[in-house]
Amino acid sequence: QAKENGANNYIRYSKEITGHVLNRLELENDLRDALTNHSIMVYYQPKYNSQSNRMIGAEALARWQHPKYGYIPPNIFIRIAEESQLIIELEREIIKIVFGQIRRWLDEGNQVPRTSINLSSVQFYRDDLIPFLQEALEIYQISSEYIEFELTESIILKDRINVNERFDELIDMGFELSIDDFGTGYSSLSYLHKLAINRLKIDKSFIDDYHENGEVIATIISLAKQLKLNVIAEGVETKDQIDFLSDLSCYDIQGYYFSPPLPVSEYERKLQTLRLSNL
Ligand code: C2E
Ligand code: MG
Ligand code: MG
Ligand code: MG
Repeated sequence: QAKENGANNYIRYSKEITGHVLNRLELENDLRDALTNHSIMVYYQPKYNSQSNRMIGAEALARWQHPKYGYIPPNIFIRIAEESQLIIELEREIIKIVFGQIRRWLDEGNQVPRTSINLSSVQFYRDDLIPFLQEALEIYQISSEYIEFELTESIILKDRINVNERFDELIDMGFELSIDDFGTGYSSLSYLHKLAINRLKIDKSFIDDYHENGEVIATIISLAKQLKLNVIAEGVETKDQIDFLSDLSCYDIQGYYFSPPLPVSEYERKLQTLRLSNL
């Protein structure tokens, strides 16, 4: 499997995927087509608690199988979508897919853990976000308690005056909110206590080199504790990382150690075992 994360790989991938030289404009047009054809898919990466070994949630991640070039990493097509406003339609598509799948899983009698969806700052600040979400909840008949939104620090860096207002609106609707890739945004920590958020996600880059970043990780975890926020580590791949995080009382884990992002059919099998284990 290709390594698609990391700024270094981005450049290489933006030029070449499995031998193809990619044209940005061509990709943008193909992405527009993919949205029209509803061929964008969602994979689900389970989140676990390392003490109980139980699934505690999942993250919905966009997947695009290009008709000619095959798998295009999200880091590439999300960037293109953000630069071209296609991100608005793409995220709406993801929201509809996830809400629809949760409805179906519930109808089939499954226990469904809270599922997080990534939201760009463009979407976050749109006037029609709240009405869109209200309508989607209505159409798919699901409760907002099943949904969490992951936002990056760039939302706050935009320094928009209505940032708190928007957080409050989403929380009032019953959604959970987390700050994704936390610690990478170079933002001041002073805004954090003002925001209605539930969770910090420690960025994978810290976990990758946890030996060097031990103090940063410890600081984030104690900050979360002081602010009474939950904390989850992302990109956890090894038992050593689990042990390190356990020593700091961080047990919520997302990463290949427990599971990679799964296609719907495989994720459904996990949901079914979840049901069996609770009988
Ligand atoms: P993210 O939101 O931080 O998602 C976590 C990324 O880390 C995912 O990459 C996931 O596959 C990867 N990951 C999780 N655990 C591990 C691990 O143990 N090892 C390694 N090597 N990787 C791990 P993915 O799916 O390639 O997505 C990359 C980014 O693309 C996401 O980062 C998110 O920023 C963006 N993205 C994906 N789907 C959407 C979407 O629907 N909307 C928006 N706005 N962004 C999205
Ligand atoms: Mg995320
Ligand atoms: Mg993240
Ligand atoms: Mg990340």
